[in-house]
Amino acid sequence: MKNQGISNKPRRGDRLIREQVHDPYKTRLKLPEPTVCPGCGAVYHAGRWTWAERPTGAHEELCQACHRIRDKYPAGYITIRGAFALAHKDEIVHLARHEEGREKAEHPLHRIMGIAESDGTIQITTTDIHLPRRLGDALEHAFKGELEFFYEEETYLVRIHWTREE
Ligand SMILES: [Zn+2]
Repeated sequence: MKNQGISNKPRRGDRLIREQVHDPYKTRLKLPEPTVCPGCGAVYHAGRWTWAERPTGAHEELCQACHRIRDKYPAGYITIRGAFALAHKDEIVHLARHEEGREKAEHPLHRIMGIAESDGTIQITTTDIHLPRRLGDALEHAFKGELEFFYEEETYLVRIHWTREE
């Protein structure tokens, strides 16, 4: 994988993303516990969002994933190109959904926002900056191809490009 981080201080490996820049969508106030997201039903408990049973008398506040979905403001973009990729679109989308499901089970706020195709490009958007890396790695693992990773630290945005022509 080529690391072409736009940041002045490119990092490598799994520590590529250190959340030194705060997610602008993460609330700065401490949420009351328990809080339930009216968008997705995630429950904020013990300092993190989980898929717990809805507690009685919970506060309601939109989680940052639902907030981003409402604003149509993704944190991650996976751009998929190439003749092979387009010919195997269904398998790629299936793989992406499968990986999303596994990620989301553990991290409720890591989700796919949308999958769109235009001008010979498939674009997957995500609510967080971690899922794109997972999807990119899964694509490379399953289908080889060329994977590139960009992290724009200043804007808290991740872009993955995956290409396979033949
Ligand atoms: Zn939510």
